[in-house]
Amino acid sequence: MSQKLDPQKLDPMLDMSCRVCGERTVERFLDLGVQPHCNRLSLPGSAADSEPRYPLRAGFCHNCSLVQIDHTIPKERMFSEYPYVSGTTRTLIEHFRNSADRLVSAYGLGPDSLVVDIGSNDGSWLAQYRPHGVRVLGVEAASNVAEIAVAAGVPTLNRFFNAETAELIRREHGAVALITAAGVFFHLEELHSVVDGIGRLIGDDGVFVVQAIYLGGMIENLAFDQIYHEHLCYYTLRSLEELLGRHGLAVFDVHILPIHGGSIEAHVARIGTRAVQPAVGALRAEEAAKGLGRIETYRAFADHVWQQRTRLLGVLEDYRRRGLTVYAYGAPAKGATLLNSFGIDRRLVAKAVEKNRMKVGLVMPGSQIPIVGEETERPDAYLLLAWNFLSEFLAKEAAYLESGGAFIVPIPRVEIIGRDALGKAS
Ligand SMILES: [Zn+2]
Repeated sequence: MSQKLDPQKLDPMLDMSCRVCGERTVERFLDLGVQPHCNRLSLPGSAADSEPRYPLRAGFCHNCSLVQIDHTIPKERMFSEYPYVSGTTRTLIEHFRNSADRLVSAYGLGPDSLVVDIGSNDGSWLAQYRPHGVRVLGVEAASNVAEIAVAAGVPTLNRFFNAETAELIRREHGAVALITAAGVFFHLEELHSVVDGIGRLIGDDGVFVVQAIYLGGMIENLAFDQIYHEHLCYYTLRSLEELLGRHGLAVFDVHILPIHGGSIEAHVARIGTRAVQPAVGALRAEEAAKGLGRIETYRAFADHVWQQRTRLLGVLEDYRRRGLTVYAYGAPAKGATLLNSFGIDRRLVAKAVEKNRMKVGLVMPGSQIPIVGEETERPDAYLLLAWNFLSEFLAKEAAYLESGGAFIVPIPRVEIIGRDALGKAS
């Protein structure tokens, strides 16, 4: 288990070159100890001490303002088989449908247009273009989920997206109208090759739309659990612009979306090909006003994370002392960060109840909490690891909460939501 490290005793500069600008100016502000890969679920009984563990540290680049982790687990180890399927959450499917509808109408996409989705997972997003008759192509490195997409009728290349893959697509299809990337842009080990490939593939007329967890939202929500080995980079508009600008690309429009507790959606084209919308300047100004370009903001964030740990452990210890059971509600990757960073194990949370059958029967990494199916008996309270879907779960579990059950919400504030709070919490 990780413990709180004394920042005074450590060199704050990380031994790395910034992933965007290449300078050795990355200062550590949050050290979550050594942790196993968050999606590496193992069989029960396989010894916890045989799990490979890697440092999980977040740093801020004083030169280009990118927030990033320093340790890279090779992508082949993380993404060749993947237990996460986008299509399991209703909120996410609705989000994909809305996004597809918006993009089709904004860019006048039709049967002659091709949409390429990077990290297309099970094809949940691309499938939403079907009613519009738009041609689609997914690029997905994990063979198990790529197969699910193909079986569902979404053409998918089973490989990593990089400059070489872009060239391959361009030779076969020509320039594409729209490239999208949702929830993958922070994963990319070959960041510059990917962005270079995107630039070539969209040509002068195409658009790249990237959705990524927004660092500004993470800071506001105290969502440190989004920090895990798969997420190498955490973007603000400014750091995203620093990256894109190096490859002749520019953000011409931007939105903040509620999905995943706050995501940035940037619309990108080759520099000079599109009129820049006022939202871009407005968000730049807002980020400056909130101090997102200053290390002090991130140091304060880290202090709040450790205060949160004290509060959450207090609540869980209290349940344990009273002989009440607590199960985790869901076993998402970010839940592993939360549990392992705070030192929460089976003593405090006996089981994790999960809808995704690919995870049932395995144990969570590090904490070794067993993952069970939804048919499992009800506990006295659930620790809500997927806190970003709170309103969906409140609606789904209204009867459980009415009958005296409770949700322990860890983020953004530690809260216990039970029968009494039902009306006001949603
Ligand atoms: Zn940098």
